[in-house]
Amino acid sequence: APAEDPVVVVDAHGLPYLDARLPVKRRVADLLSRMTLAEKAGQMTQAERNALRAPGDIAGYALGSLLSGGGSVPSPNTPEAWARMVDGYQLRTRATRLQIPLVYGVDAVHGHNNVAGATIMPHNVGIGASRDPGLAARTGAVTAKEVRATGVPWDFAPCLCVSRDERWGRSYEAFGEDPALVTAMETVIQGMQGAADGRDLDRNDKVLTSAKHFVGDGGTEFGSSTTGSYTIDQGVTRVTREELEAVHLAPFAEAVKRGAGTVMPSYSSVDVIGDDLGPVKMHANAELINGVLKDRMGFEGFVISDWQAIDQIPGDYPSDVRTSVNAGLDMIMVPTNYQDFTRTLVAEVEAGRIPAPRIDDAVSRILTQKFRLGLFEKPYADTTHLPSVGSAEHRAVAREAAAASQVLLKNDGGVLPLKASQKVYVAGSNADDLGNQTGGWTISWQGGSGRRTTGTTILEGMRKTAPGLTWSKDASAPVEGYDAGVVVVGETPYAEGVGDVGNGHDLELSAADRAAVDRVCAAMPCAVLVVSGRPQLVGDLLPGIDALVASWLPGTEGDGVADVLYGRKPFTGQLPVTWPRSEAQLPINVGDASYAPQYPYGWGLTTLTEAPRGGEATLKALGLAARVLQAAGRGDSPEARRLVARARLLVQDRIGQEVTEAVAKPFAEADHRLLSGDPAGAVARLTAAYRAAG
Ligand code: BGC
Repeated sequence: APAEDPVVVVDAHGLPYLDARLPVKRRVADLLSRMTLAEKAGQMTQAERNALRAPGDIAGYALGSLLSGGGSVPSPNTPEAWARMVDGYQLRTRATRLQIPLVYGVDAVHGHNNVAGATIMPHNVGIGASRDPGLAARTGAVTAKEVRATGVPWDFAPCLCVSRDERWGRSYEAFGEDPALVTAMETVIQGMQGAADGRDLDRNDKVLTSAKHFVGDGGTEFGSSTTGSYTIDQGVTRVTREELEAVHLAPFAEAVKRGAGTVMPSYSSVDVIGDDLGPVKMHANAELINGVLKDRMGFEGFVISDWQAIDQIPGDYPSDVRTSVNAGLDMIMVPTNYQDFTRTLVAEVEAGRIPAPRIDDAVSRILTQKFRLGLFEKPYADTTHLPSVGSAEHRAVAREAAAASQVLLKNDGGVLPLKASQKVYVAGSNADDLGNQTGGWTISWQGGSGRRTTGTTILEGMRKTAPGLTWSKDASAPVEGYDAGVVVVGETPYAEGVGDVGNGHDLELSAADRAAVDRVCAAMPCAVLVVSGRPQLVGDLLPGIDALVASWLPGTEGDGVADVLYGRKPFTGQLPVTWPRSEAQLPINVGDASYAPQYPYGWGLTTLTEAPRGGEATLKALGLAARVLQAAGRGDSPEARRLVARARLLVQDRIGQEVTEAVAKPFAEADHRLLSGDPAGAVARLTAAYRAAG
C-alpha cells in the first residue's frame, strides 16, 4: 500500500478471518467455515441498487454485492455523492452476523463514465488505434484512481471482445478486430489492478477488473438463418474450434495471466462448427467456463454473470440457476429479483442439484477478492483522491489518448495539419457535441447528445488555437473565402441492442452530414473527421474529400483532436479495424481470403515531419535489422516497432490513395505480425505490399 495510507487496526476478536496479518487463504477458509448456506447464497448475489426493496435487505439477504447499472447514479451526481452512497450501502453490512463487506461494481469502460465531471477517455476502439500499450495502461490507472476515489472497488472492464463485424453496436468497446491487438492492449489490466498477483488491490487507487464478455461476443453472426430469432447483439458466434481458440479465447488467456480478478460471460452463444451441439448460451457453457477458463487457463478469480443473463437460458428459473452455477458462474447479477434468486439457489443446493462444494468454491473465490481488496479492514471510501476525479492531470492523459487515437486515412495535398493563421470553416453534426464525441456508456447507459458533462468539444479545442474560425453546424453559412474546411460528421450515441437485423442501424452517414461534406468540400480544401464508434461508408464521397480522419469516440478532451489537427502533435494512429468500402463487404477482417477494403487494417498516415525516404533497398535494410532484433529476442521492443513503422510509411508513400486487394492484404497482415512479436515477418509482408503497388 502507498506509504501515506493510515495504519488500520481492526480488533479481530480472536476471529482468524478478521486478522489482516494472516494469509488470505487462511482467512477465506475460516470465514467459509462459519457461514450458513443462506449466507453463502447471499455472497453469490449481486443486486442493482435501485432494485432494493428496502436498504435493510442488504443485511436481510446478506447480499455480497451491489451495482450501479448504466445511469444508475446518485442525486446529485457528484463524486462526493457517489462515495456517500457506496458508504451508506456498506454500512448496512455492519448489521449482518459476519459483517462481510459488499463489493460494489460499476461499468467504468472509458473513465469513470457514470459520474458527471469525471475524465472520459476515448472508447477502446480509439485506444486500439493508438497501438500504444503504455498509454493503455495509463488510461487504466486514471480510470481506477477516479473509480476507487468514489468508494467503488470494482469495474466491469475491460471488454476483450474481438470485433469481427462492425454492424455490432458494441464494436467500439473492442480494441480491434485482431486478437493480437486486443492482447497487446491488455496492459490496461495492470493499469487498473496493479500487479498480477493482486497484491496492489488494497491500494486506494486500484480496482478489481472484469474481463468481458467471455467469449465470442464480437463474433456473432448477422442475420443468418442459423441464428433463428437471435440478433447480432447477444447473438450466436459460429466458429470452428481453431477460430474460437485463436481469435476469441486468446485474449482471455492473456487476461488470466495478467490476473484479472473477475470474468463476465457473454450474453451471446457459441456454436462450434462440427461438434453438433448447436448454439450454447455462454452463461450455460460448462465446457468453456469450467473446462477452459477455470481448469485449463487456471483462472482463480470469480465469474460474474451479465445483467439478468441467466434468465435467457432455456428452461424454468430453478433450471437457469442450477445450470449457470454448475457451469461455473460464481456470482449472479440478478439484478432485481434477489429474493427469488437466493431462495432458489438455496433450494437447489438442498435438493442436491447443485453440489455443496461448488458453492464453497464460488464463495471462496468471491471472498478471496474481497480480502485482497482490503475491504474488511477499510470498507469505506478513502476520499483522499476525490479531487482527482476530472482533474487537470487526468484530463491531460485523456487528451494525449484522444490525440493518439486519431487515424489519418487520407491527406491529399497536405491539407492537414492546419495552420493557426489559416481562415478555417468548421461544419458538421459532431464538431460541437460533447455527448456525441463521448458516445454510449457516458452518464447514462446509452449515452446521449449534448452537453451532459464537463469537457471540451472538438470545435472548442480548435477555437483555442484559432478563435476567429467560422462555425456553421449545417454548413448553410456562405462558404467563400476560406483557406480550409473541417467537417465533423458521424454517429449519435448508442450502447447495446444495436446492429440487430432490421433495426435501421447501418454504417451510412446522415443526409445532413453528407450535404455538409458536399457543400464545404466543393468550395475549399477540406478535411472530414468521422466521430463514430465504427467505420462509416464514405466511398462515394471520397473523391471530393482531401483529408479523412477516423476520430472514433475521443472522449471529453476535444483538445486532443485539435492537437493533431493543428500539428502540435503528429497523427500516428492506425486502423484497429478494417474500413470497408460497402455494407456488402461485411464482415471483413484482416486474414480474409479476399480482402479489398477501402482502407486496410493497420492503415494510418502520419504527419511526422521527417517523411520516410528510400525505396526497396531501404525496406530490405529494415527487414535485416528486424531479423537481427528478433534473433536477439527483442522482437517486441520499441526499436522493432520503430523499424516496422518506418517500413509502413515507405509503403504508404508508394501506395498513395488507391488501396488494391493485392496491396491491402499483406499491408494489414504486417501489423498482425508486429503485434505477435515478429517484426521481420512484418517487414517481409510490407515488402510484398510495396512490390504489389507496382
Ligand atoms: C452489459 C455488461 C455490463 C452490465 C452491467 C450489461 O447489459 O452487457 O457489459 O457490465 O450490463 O451494467
